[in-house]
Amino acid sequence: MAGQLDGKVAFVTGAATGIGAVCARRFAREGAIVACTSRPQDPYQEVVDGIVAAGGRAIGIPLDVTNPESAQEVTDRVIKEFGAIHILLNNAGITDDQLIMRMKPESWRRVLSVNLDGAYNVTHAIVRHMIKQREGRIVSISSVIGMMGNAGQANYAASKAGLIGFTKSLARELGSRNITVNAIAPGYIQTPMTEKLSEQQRQALIENLAIQRLGTPDDIAEAVLFLIGPGSTYITGTVLNVSGGLYM
Ligand code: NDP
Repeated sequence: MAGQLDGKVAFVTGAATGIGAVCARRFAREGAIVACTSRPQDPYQEVVDGIVAAGGRAIGIPLDVTNPESAQEVTDRVIKEFGAIHILLNNAGITDDQLIMRMKPESWRRVLSVNLDGAYNVTHAIVRHMIKQREGRIVSISSVIGMMGNAGQANYAASKAGLIGFTKSLARELGSRNITVNAIAPGYIQTPMTEKLSEQQRQALIENLAIQRLGTPDDIAEAVLFLIGPGSTYITGTVLNVSGGLYM
């Protein structure tokens, strides 16, 4: 059966766990060849093995997104091996929560460096190629926290708000080259990132949601698939809120 992403090459950062891993598997099920990248110590190879065992095509490559030289080397390697990159998912992200009074400069810089500089590094490495090929889909995983703020997450909120400005600017720059650039703003999604919540915190969060459950990585993967799929060629510069009504 024909998949929505047949013939496409997708590049996913932070693909070892959580949302990145589920998106990589979903893209592969739709026929894409998927470059699964994450930090060297991360279990991204397990995601690749799973995709291949299910009959899909994938390659695993270590990439710490904070390193611009590695971003260029790894993206060049994927383009050389598969001839193109059509889809980029900027997913790698971290939290390092602390109230501002206690937030050390290293914690501020670390979160900005992975979440925002990381997206710049990888996008910058790929975009020249996408412009030449006159085709591209770029999606970055922001967060509703970047729009509504959250006590104890000034660094994270600033990085995710930054991704929204980044997305809208690139959408304006690249629209004429048939490249769309969008962001997803998830709410609370069940992944290793939110495993640290206590049961009490989890219940308190759920009570504030219109749809009374935490989101799943599949909820996010379906939204990403819509933005990179054939039905959304006229959608660019948007932030798609996938938060179960946490933020409206
Ligand atoms: P995970 O921690 O499961 O996934 C993040 C992935 O990024 C991990 O595999 C992580 O690897 C990787 N990563 C971290 N630092 C780097 C780096 N420097 N270079 C490359 N990869 C790196 O969390 P989620 O799946 O939940 O998060 C995915 C994205 O979704 C993030 O951007 C997050 O901010 C965003 N998001 C998540 C929400 C949620 O509720 N879960 C809500 C809103 C947004 P490692 O294990 O080595 O750190």
